[in-house]
Amino acid sequence: MFFNKFKSVLAITSGLMILTWSPEVLSKELNIIATNFPQYDFVKNITKDKANVSMLLKIGAEAHSYEPTPKDLIAIEKSDLFVFNGGENDEWIENFLKDHLDKLNTFAFTKEVALRDEEEVEGMQPEDEEEHEHEDGEEHEFDEHVWTSPKNDVVILNKLCQAIVKLDPENKDFYEKNAAEYISRFNGLDKKYSEIISGAKNKTLIFGDRFPLLYFVKDYGLNYYAAFKGCSNETEVSASTIKFLIDKAEQLKSPVIFKIELSSDNIASTIAESVGAKVMTFNTGHNITVEEFKAKRTMADLFNDNLPALKAALN
Ligand SMILES: [Zn+2]
Repeated sequence: MFFNKFKSVLAITSGLMILTWSPEVLSKELNIIATNFPQYDFVKNITKDKANVSMLLKIGAEAHSYEPTPKDLIAIEKSDLFVFNGGENDEWIENFLKDHLDKLNTFAFTKEVALRDEEEVEGMQPEDEEEHEHEDGEEHEFDEHVWTSPKNDVVILNKLCQAIVKLDPENKDFYEKNAAEYISRFNGLDKKYSEIISGAKNKTLIFGDRFPLLYFVKDYGLNYYAAFKGCSNETEVSASTIKFLIDKAEQLKSPVIFKIELSSDNIASTIAESVGAKVMTFNTGHNITVEEFKAKRTMADLFNDNLPALKAALN
C-alpha cells in the first residue's frame, strides 16, 4: 500500500520534472497519420517539421498488400488527422470509419477530385472474378490512383492544406507557403508533360505491368496497352496477353516498354526483347524505396524522373 502510494508520488514528481525540463511535451504539434506514400508526401511537404507525420505502409513495401495492425488502428484513433486515399485498396478504412467517423478528422484523396471508372482495355489480363468481390457486396468501380495526374495533385494539395490550416490556424502562413511551393512543382510537371506529349507522334504507352496511370493518360490525351489493370491482384500473365502486347509494340514501333516501381520486370523484358525495345520504369508514386526515402526524395522528384522515360517512349 505504502509502496504503491510512493510509486504514484514518484510518477507525479517525474511527470512534473518532464514538464519542467522538456517544453516540447506541452507543444500542441499535430499528429497526422498517412496511409501510403502519396498521402505522407503531401502532408510532409505542407507541414515540414511543424507536425508529427507517420506513414502506415512500410517504406519500400508493396502498397497493395498492406494490412493494418492493431497498433496502426490505435494510432489512427489518437491522431488529429487521418489522411488516406480511398477506393478498393482502402476498403478496411471504410469499415473502420463506420465506428470512428464522428471522432476523427479525415481527408481522402479520392473525395477531392472527379473520379474515373476503372478501365479494361483490349489485351489486358482479365480479373479473377472471385477476388473482385467485396465483403459488403459493393463494387468499387472507380480507379483510385488519382494522384498520378499532376493536375489532380494541384487540387488535392490545395484542399489538404486547407484541412491542415483548420486544425492548426496558428501556422497558417507557414503551411500555405509550403503548399504553394510544392504546388508549383506539380504545375511545372504539368507543363513539361504537356510539352513532351504535344510534340510526340506516337501517343501510346505500353506497360508490361499493372497500369495505375488512368488519370495521367486521360488528362494528357495518351493511349495505353497494359498487362493488368491498376490495382490488379493478378501476377500471372497468359501467353495471349504477352502476344497481344508484343504485336502492339511491333505495330507501333514502341521504343520503350514500361514497368512500374517496386515491381518485377519479367513481363516488360519479355516484350522488349522480342521487339528490340528497352525496359524503362515509370514511377507511379505508390511507395518509395528505403534509399529514396533516405535521400528525402519527394513525389514531385519521382514524377520528374518520368520525363526522360516518357520522352524516349513517345518519340
Ligand atoms: Zn494501386
